[in-house]
Amino acid sequence: MAQIRVMVCGVGGRMGRTVVEAVMGAEDMELVGGVDPAYGGQLLADLVTGAPETSVAERVQVGIDAWGPEVMVDFTRPEAVLDNLSVALAAGVACVVGTTGFSPEKLNEVGAMCEHSGSPALIAPNFSIGANLMMAFAAEAAARMDYAAIIESHHENKLDAPSGTAMATAQRMREARGEDFEAQATEHFGLEGVRGGSLGGISIHAIRMAGVVANQRVVFGGPGETLSIEHITTGRECFMPGVLLAIREVRGLDGLVYGLEQLLLTT
Ligand code: NAP
Repeated sequence: MAQIRVMVCGVGGRMGRTVVEAVMGAEDMELVGGVDPAYGGQLLADLVTGAPETSVAERVQVGIDAWGPEVMVDFTRPEAVLDNLSVALAAGVACVVGTTGFSPEKLNEVGAMCEHSGSPALIAPNFSIGANLMMAFAAEAAARMDYAAIIESHHENKLDAPSGTAMATAQRMREARGEDFEAQATEHFGLEGVRGGSLGGISIHAIRMAGVVANQRVVFGGPGETLSIEHITTGRECFMPGVLLAIREVRGLDGLVYGLEQLLLTT
């Protein structure tokens, strides 16, 4: 069986290391290399580490030239991912992206890169199967209950807030409902920001603390009842079945596809 040649960007990070192990454990994949600005480990013998005189995007190009990957997986940082993608897509490498913090404008930029290069990409704010089911169930409930809130909690080192999953959930709920949720205005604040952020009438609260990987609760309210849909992760391995599925499928996609559910519905 021909193996898919996979390169990982952000290989020294928490997710990058987990992806490396998952790819190495998949019979139909070959890990060909990894890129990270400050990686000092011995995980990959010929890893492109942080030579200070080159930008990381240049190192991505060096890695592609050296290893000939078919798929690049990126779990890096919101400010780094676009440069990595522009290099990889232009080189004809299909991309699987888990890095979060994409604005609609940034997504459009990636869509244009895919169009110009003819290379496909899948961007998913959450690769866990359970989280994607949570989003689907929340969208299902959105038309029937008038009040909604999202409370997400993540580890203390997460750089962006709210999480990409919280934003994607809120957008899907608002879209499914077709109008804003009911939102009661607060007249007096004892503390600024205490009602959280708001998207389409859904209040969104982000907790950052040690001891947590990634959790989210979607709470709906109606007369005399509430409904909670909760997803709890206990380890980063929950993202790996989705990442491996994306690596297997991405080369057959057309342009930019957003959300793992696009693959879950068809495979
Ligand atoms: P992390 O531990 O900080 O890892 C990020 C790694 O990327 C670091 O080693 C970082 O190096 C490296 N990096 C920075 N710029 C780079 C570049 N230009 N090219 C290559 N590598 C670069 O963070 P994490 O917890 O693994 O999360 C990474 C991203 O994945 C975040 O955006 C997070 O929100 C997202 N995430 C997504 C999912 C999902 O299912 N979609 C799940 C979990 C996390 P330095 O530390 O030296 O900068």
